[in-house]
Amino acid sequence: MTGPVVAVIGGGQLARMMAPAASALGVHLRVLVEAPTGSAAQVLADAPVGLPADVDAVVELVAGDTGRPAARVLTVEHEHVPAEVAHAVAERGVPVRPRPEALLHARDKVAMRRRLGELGVPGPDWAELADAGALEAFLADHDGVAVVKTARGGYDGKGVRVVRSADEVADWFAAAADGGPGLLAEERVPFVRELAVLLARRPSGEVRVWPVTQTVQAGGVCAEAIAPAPGLDPALERSAVDAAVRVAEGLDVTGVLAVEMFEVPAAGDEPARVLVNELAMRPHNSGHWTIEGAVTSQFEQHLRAVLDLPLGETRAVHRWSVMANVLGSSLERLTDALPAVTADPGVHVHLYGKEIRAGRKLGHVTVCGDDLDDVRARALAAAALLRGDSDHG
Ligand code: ADP
Repeated sequence: MTGPVVAVIGGGQLARMMAPAASALGVHLRVLVEAPTGSAAQVLADAPVGLPADVDAVVELVAGDTGRPAARVLTVEHEHVPAEVAHAVAERGVPVRPRPEALLHARDKVAMRRRLGELGVPGPDWAELADAGALEAFLADHDGVAVVKTARGGYDGKGVRVVRSADEVADWFAAAADGGPGLLAEERVPFVRELAVLLARRPSGEVRVWPVTQTVQAGGVCAEAIAPAPGLDPALERSAVDAAVRVAEGLDVTGVLAVEMFEVPAAGDEPARVLVNELAMRPHNSGHWTIEGAVTSQFEQHLRAVLDLPLGETRAVHRWSVMANVLGSSLERLTDALPAVTADPGVHVHLYGKEIRAGRKLGHVTVCGDDLDDVRARALAAAALLRGDSDHG
């Protein structure tokens, strides 16, 4: 007997890591994958191939048939699902969680900035850029420097440029004029570090928040996550959590929500504060440590939340957890490093079954323990081994 079917759009590592949690809960995952050899398809029996923008493929994903139960709910592992697709599913009586109206704010940075402003959630100064003149005006008001972003389609820093003149994004303005994504400018935030608040919310309104995490980026990509964020001021922690809960409730998010933030130090009369950078409405890289480091992992919690089950505890079960990403590798196969990596018995290895490409997220490792320096060094050493980086300790 299979349990409730949760349909998921997207067959990457996030869907793959939902599989053990689904198995434990007796939930059947049916995942729409873009390639039959993809990360999630390798570990799931029910993984039809189709594109997230293909209405027919997604409707088929949630549909029932003789001997094949219909999906109880549809969820996503990435934001790139057009609203029409989600609406077509909702019209057939299958709830979509998060709702398309909420998901828009994880897909479109202009919509996100506008709505967060209305909700009173702290963020950087920003402006929508209709043309190069608007950027020149923004630069003039912000000491001649701005962070320009494409409203849609960016990921891992690919749609982000720090600029001092409109010429530096002439190609993006041209693309926008050609029907490409719109642009926005943000003030360049003088942050000391980046934080992420991860929470889950279910349709009935229950919210649970994990300890605030510090993320370390390398070239716009998350390289490392440390939980809890070391030395975080309790007042700042409260404002970070308040901001994230306000986002979850204000946008009526269901499932896991990651709110990425900048920690800005006190300056003059201004106290230290957090500013929201961006949102993800799904399990997130900043929360991979919860698999071993928290009572309930983000993957199990996402399933509970979208099924409207009571949420699990989010408390950390170790003093420290450090997650390090494996970004690219010079090895032929990552598993060649397993004998060396597993020589440290405290290293938890997660490989995603992806083809090796420079800079690509191929897996991660997590180490938990009492001594932050030790835990961090071991996580970084294990990730270095998987990258084939023999110079590392
Ligand atoms: P993506 O959607 O590609 O992940 P982000 O908006 O998260 O892009 O930006 C990627 C990185 O660029 C951030 O993690 C941060 O390090 C830097 N960044 C983004 N916005 C700003 C800003 N307003 N000020 C300073 N740095 C920024």
